[in-house]
Amino acid sequence: MGLGEAAAPGAPATEKARGRTRPADMFAFGGPWGAAGLTIGLPLVVFYLWVCIVDHGGALLWPRSGADLLGLLRRVPLPTPRAVAIYGVWFALQAALQILMPGPWKEGMPLADGTRLKYRMNGWVSWWLTWALVGFAVVTGLLPATFFYDEYGPLLSTVVIFSFVYSGYLHWHGLRYGKDEAVYGNAVHDFFMGTALNPRTGQFDHKLFCEARPGLILWVIGNFSIAAKQYQLHGTISTPMILVCVFHFWYIADYYFHEEAILTTWDIKHENFGFMLCFGDLVWVPFTYTFQALYLVNHPHGLPWWGTAGIVALNLGGYVVFRWSNIQKHHFRADPTRPVWGRPAEFITTTRGTLLLASGWWGKARHVNYLGDLMMALAWCLPCLFGSVVPYFYIIYFTILLVLRERRDHAMCALKYGADWQEYTRRVPWRIIPRVY
Ligand code: NDP
Repeated sequence: MGLGEAAAPGAPATEKARGRTRPADMFAFGGPWGAAGLTIGLPLVVFYLWVCIVDHGGALLWPRSGADLLGLLRRVPLPTPRAVAIYGVWFALQAALQILMPGPWKEGMPLADGTRLKYRMNGWVSWWLTWALVGFAVVTGLLPATFFYDEYGPLLSTVVIFSFVYSGYLHWHGLRYGKDEAVYGNAVHDFFMGTALNPRTGQFDHKLFCEARPGLILWVIGNFSIAAKQYQLHGTISTPMILVCVFHFWYIADYYFHEEAILTTWDIKHENFGFMLCFGDLVWVPFTYTFQALYLVNHPHGLPWWGTAGIVALNLGGYVVFRWSNIQKHHFRADPTRPVWGRPAEFITTTRGTLLLASGWWGKARHVNYLGDLMMALAWCLPCLFGSVVPYFYIIYFTILLVLRERRDHAMCALKYGADWQEYTRRVPWRIIPRVY
């Protein structure tokens, strides 16, 4: 899970790079200039939206002069010793849990050379232990409950700087130790996209760790900390705040419960680990996915019962589509004889030997799992009502991400499966929303 990609692929040309040929998406992000723009621009977007929420009640700011712009830039806080200490302890704690906690070892998908990497699945136990430790720190006064809200700015600068440093290390590590990943020979572009698919130090997998731990858990803990701020300021935690906190908590708890599913995701299978994913995992997720809670702190409105019921129903419906479709594909891949919706599975056998499920959810749309995720995304934004567009940033960005990701996946599958993929698209013509898109 992460920022993922932000643009569709260009022509499906191929490029030979360090021993492996893969679709050349050198220009998927506007080439080196696009990569440079995103590397500088994305952190600024997070700072900008944060300032809009905390200083201007969610209103978008339009700087009219150089002085306005300078004023906005001056608002970017520097890291404080406290923020550095909090994040240092946090990152070290998550790394220690990843290394030390018990959990079964699972094999990832086959790599280009046919081998498989092993991953320790200890997210479920690490997730609950983190809550216990943070709870202990708050109860004993080591950590103020409102730390995430209070330190948001300095924490954000700290993690942005850290993600640049970490990506620099990954860049060097990939060039030094990577073996078969596509690199393009342009330093800016390679820094952004990454120089290795699975950079590891010993058995410590940097990509899986960053994808699954420090950012994801900080996001949910950040929400609860922001809710504590609302309580401190207004003496109450509003229904919308409770909905947002519970929805996000559920999403991530469910993620760890089905942790193994991460091994078949696009990011793990296809994406090199560079600044794009590193920044996405460490900064984008915890600091922008908390915008709804951040907005609600000073908008402690209630909701009519039917509004609450409708939003809960939307989230539950989205969850059912999301989880059921993903698990259906997972089960089908593990055992194609397993019935789908009570009937034998219908599928296409590709010439590569892979099977493409064409019934159940996967007969409704080719990425119906994205629809479920988008329904939940809407349910997370609606509690903020309609006073500002900033809390809707998540669904806007996420829609763009998933639409473009579907197109990129489609291009890759068309290349991989050829006529078999065409047959699948003939049988299942809808991309994400059955009968609509
Ligand atoms: P998918 O899980 O949809 O995987 C796509 C791959 O599945 C294809 O490349 C192909 O790979 C295989 N596949 C496609 N069609 C079929 C079929 N009919 N039968 C069998 N296999 C098929 O992609 P993602 O990794 O993008 O998404 C996983 C989940 O994560 C989604 O629910 C998504 O919404 C969610 N997500 C959440 C994010 C967040 O920030 N909240 C960010 C990104 C994703 P192959 O044939 O090579 O196995």
